[in-house]
Amino acid sequence: MNYDKSKSGDIKMELEKNLASVKQRIERAAIVSHRRAAAITLVAVTKTVDTSVILEAQCLGVNDFGENRVQELDRKMVYLPEARWHMIGRLQTNKVKDIVGKVCLIHSLDRWNLAEEIDKRAKMLGIKAAALLQVNIAGEEQKAGIDVAEVESFLDAIGQLSNLKIHGLMTIAPAVGDPEETRPVFQELFQIRHNLSNKKFNNVDLHFLSMGMSQDYEVAIEEGANIIRVGSALFS
Ligand SMILES: *Cc1c(COP(=O)(O)O)cnc(C)c1O
Repeated sequence: MNYDKSKSGDIKMELEKNLASVKQRIERAAIVSHRRAAAITLVAVTKTVDTSVILEAQCLGVNDFGENRVQELDRKMVYLPEARWHMIGRLQTNKVKDIVGKVCLIHSLDRWNLAEEIDKRAKMLGIKAAALLQVNIAGEEQKAGIDVAEVESFLDAIGQLSNLKIHGLMTIAPAVGDPEETRPVFQELFQIRHNLSNKKFNNVDLHFLSMGMSQDYEVAIEEGANIIRVGSALFS
């Protein structure tokens, strides 16, 4: 494809418009849930997005970016070293060494051996790695995440891993036509955190709820999300 100045101008304008619209919707949903929009982190999901466009987003004030593949993360991080990068996709144990120490948050901790591997790598680097525990609320077979019934014992066991800290919970709602249908999923994740709030775990602080994507982030915020992961609503 030829480089076309007018086209790149279009992309910038489009992005600016999309970002303004998403921010306005975040603002509105935050009011519904009696919170400030500033307390909600927008993670711009950049899978399939060109680095030139990601740089434009950064110029517009976005500084949190999410990728679901380690290779893409590694490649894009080089262009935006100042940005905060989030790993949001299923993480293979043998790729852990490529991202620990580089990303600010791993959203997709979904099994015990992954927790051990992250802890081991963080120990080697002399740091404490930050992750969210991914929960499979809808109980869908193909979706990653631990079962709701296992959340408490998992968090209990995290106390053994001194170089890993859990900062909250994450879930992916099933893709449905009407975002209202996802509301119970978000309500349940909020409730799980609430039920655990009077329990004491080591290396665990359940401050963050990462839930909501382009189709349902407003509903997620209304139900307590303080991190949303938005791709297509910004970049297409
Ligand atoms: C792709 C992806 C998103 C963003 O999805 P959009 O519908 O494009 O907003 C959010 N979370 C995860 C885990 C993803 O893989």
